[in-house]
Amino acid sequence: MIKYNFCAGPAKLPDDVLKIAQAELLDWSNTGCSVMEMSHRSKEFINVYNEAVEGLTRLLNIPEDYSVLFMHGGGRGQFSAVPLNLLKQGSSDGAHYVTTGSWSADAVKEAEKFGQIKETKPVINNNNLYSVLPVEQWQLDDEVDFVHYCPNETVDGIEVFESPKKVSRNLCVVADMSSTILSRVIDVNDFDLIYAGAQKNIGPSGLTIVIIKNALLKRSQNNVPSIFNYALTAEKESMFNTPPTFAIYLANLVFKWLIAKGGVSEIEKVNIEKAALLYKAIDDSQLFYSKVAAQNRSRMNVTFFLKNTDLESKFLEQAEQAGLLALKGHRSVGGIRASIYNAMPIEGVQALVNFMNKFESENT
Ligand SMILES: *Cc1c(COP(=O)(O)O)cnc(C)c1O
Repeated sequence: MIKYNFCAGPAKLPDDVLKIAQAELLDWSNTGCSVMEMSHRSKEFINVYNEAVEGLTRLLNIPEDYSVLFMHGGGRGQFSAVPLNLLKQGSSDGAHYVTTGSWSADAVKEAEKFGQIKETKPVINNNNLYSVLPVEQWQLDDEVDFVHYCPNETVDGIEVFESPKKVSRNLCVVADMSSTILSRVIDVNDFDLIYAGAQKNIGPSGLTIVIIKNALLKRSQNNVPSIFNYALTAEKESMFNTPPTFAIYLANLVFKWLIAKGGVSEIEKVNIEKAALLYKAIDDSQLFYSKVAAQNRSRMNVTFFLKNTDLESKFLEQAEQAGLLALKGHRSVGGIRASIYNAMPIEGVQALVNFMNKFESENT
């Protein structure tokens, strides 16, 4: 039986990538050892690092005045690193955090340790249907050191498709793209800093991607812990200490896989199709329903619920038996969550839809 893994993270990686890694695990690039066992300063590994930076730069069309950093600590590490580096020391006007779900709420809690944080909550609930106000209504303040938001809330399944730069080019915009990076075309110029834990849409956990406008590097002062210091990481080309080498190697393979597929604009078409297929099945159903308004429905994390909650555990159990794995919603919200990142083929979504239809006809 073919199994499909809908885990929110660490998430499914492309089968083709895992096969390459498997084939060269014991003897990588004729070196006689695995890539994990090699110095991060060896010419072979530096080559992988360079390819990975170039691959990501090509996929996102990253302009020349930005740096790509490979860091540690995951998305949550960045919840600390962003305010530590970007709040102006001595003359801070604080930061403005936009909360649209559970990850951005946690980012606020961390940032409050380091400075004055203003919080905006633009999510509205209209009869149990959630939507996010347009960015023009977020009342963003040009004066703050930076604005932080999360374009895709992984737990809640809420996605915001517009950048706050739409309101003012003067805003310094920081985005937690952990679960949406590389899923759709973006203009990197709409952001001053993008960060993402790799384990959703890029590679294994342990690698954190930061894309930062070079002008912002000047803000990092010496008292920022070295491991989280953007200026130092940029200066040392992500090799201040041992980087997560195996994760960078796998991320590089994922970037090559995506480039071979035609890049972000091509995978975006598939992602739109996958999400439309699943949301249509939910909307057409008498049993399943979504709590997210059409314009804010995540393409990567599709959350839904059963009108008869007694059937939820049966649904999850039978789905697992049918080879549809890790569909349980996050413990804080319950229900069902199907994460359909780039590596999920449309066949997996079709298999889920077929199962949902069958389950509904047998249980209503
Ligand atoms: C998963 C996730 C995080 C946390 O990532 P860690 O690597 O576990 O720290 C933060 N933000 C978003 C949007 C996420 O999806």
